Amino acid sequence: MDLFYKSTRDSKVRVTASQAILQGLSEDGGLFVPEAVPALNVSLKELAGMTYQETAYAVMSRFLTDFTEDELKDCIAKAYDSKFDLPQIAPLVKAEGAYYLELFHGATIAFKDMALSILPHLMTVSARKNQIKEEIVILTATSGDTGKAALAGFADVPGTRIIVFYPKDGVSPVQEKQMVTQKGDNTFVVGIRGNFDDAQSGVKAIFGDAAFKEELAKKGFRFSSANSINVGRLVPQIVYYVYAYARLFADGEIQKNEPVNVVVPTGNFGNILAAYYAKQMGLPIGKLICASNDNKVLYDFFRTGCYDRNREFLLTTSPSMDILISSNLERLIYQVADQNDETDRRLMKELAEHGHYEITPGMEERLGDFYGGYASQEEAAAAIRSVYEAVGYVMDTHTAVASCVYEKYRQETGDSTKTVIASTASPYKFTGSVMEALGKRTEGMDDFELADALAVLSGVPVPRAVEEIRNARVLHNTVVDVDEMKQAVKEFLG
Ligand SMILES: *Cc1c(COP(=O)(O)O)cnc(C)c1O
Repeated sequence: MDLFYKSTRDSKVRVTASQAILQGLSEDGGLFVPEAVPALNVSLKELAGMTYQETAYAVMSRFLTDFTEDELKDCIAKAYDSKFDLPQIAPLVKAEGAYYLELFHGATIAFKDMALSILPHLMTVSARKNQIKEEIVILTATSGDTGKAALAGFADVPGTRIIVFYPKDGVSPVQEKQMVTQKGDNTFVVGIRGNFDDAQSGVKAIFGDAAFKEELAKKGFRFSSANSINVGRLVPQIVYYVYAYARLFADGEIQKNEPVNVVVPTGNFGNILAAYYAKQMGLPIGKLICASNDNKVLYDFFRTGCYDRNREFLLTTSPSMDILISSNLERLIYQVADQNDETDRRLMKELAEHGHYEITPGMEERLGDFYGGYASQEEAAAAIRSVYEAVGYVMDTHTAVASCVYEKYRQETGDSTKTVIASTASPYKFTGSVMEALGKRTEGMDDFELADALAVLSGVPVPRAVEEIRNARVLHNTVVDVDEMKQAVKEFLG
């Protein structure tokens, strides 16, 4: 049966999966959601015998119904290959009474790789299906992590090019080095003299420039975006929850249909929403525990039913969660509003105009699957240290927020359900903060020296992603002013 997607802000909009992937966002500003979440149609016993790639097919084929079996299997094979440093792709590690689902074994050692390694392939197939002849040009502004993961995903994918803008003085030295050493003839990395907001606004202006769009269409190019609201990023993230559950069952850690809680360190609400969809597919997930850092908009929302972004934006040691507008939450709001596009539109308008909205008590009741918690950066640092001292396992600053929230949840509720913690980055990606949390010397040491010290301490070798940039050649050195961004795009596209 074919599954269609509709817009959260206009139920009359109805598109196929491949169209949703190509478009990213609906023209009315809404997000695409499946008309109904499909049920898993394979048994736990079958899942327990599957590889990651086979699980990916079992899950994704339920959502991307206009892809043929060959097309989807080909995308999966190209995405989940030796770019990942372990054949399991997403291994589970048991430590201190929880299972850490390590989502950081891909090219850029953070969980964005799980989806961004397959999105380019889903996009080129979608383009072919919809008779799009133009070359796809991905435009992205990045504050660090997404840019590199998108570059790694799109590098050398035929029929695509990718242009990443980053604030020249606004990313960490490792993040910058990761980007400017990116290989691939179809990649283009540009530093801008300005901050992340300037880069973001510049990209939005290019997207909104109809004349420029037409000019490029004549030359055979079409813009697209790779951001986290794309269905092509959401669906691949459902896979690892199903995979983790099946592994726990296969390894005898849980009984058939035993509920398992999940804790997700959350920013834009994409990862935890994927877990929610997994539950709706029939996976026996108990509570979905949403872990925030000091920017605890979501914690407050789950407690009060009021979403309020009017507050100070705090910079923390878990920067990928420093976010005040969690875009993907709109999909959950739409769901608990009984898929009423008018309610969704009204609330999102309030958010855009006043920075806050409040849901009704009836909607709040339907959020019962979720529990919101938060951890300050001091608490997260303490969690890194205590788990390390107890069992020798070193986690990164984002995972630490989740680990800490898990402890608080257990103490508050007494719930002893087995729990999977989404581990979203390698400690090697945030080495400075991690070594400080462990009480080690960091002064005067660069990130590579810190990585070597962490390897000694944790017994986990320095990952390939870090080794690769240690001595890599800089391949991109373009730096422009904000008002020169469009020109830079033109020059790269010839
Ligand atoms: C992006 C990111 C998150 C947040 O994930 P969302 O899907 O945006 O909620 C958490 N941790 C790390 C390391 C990330 O890169």
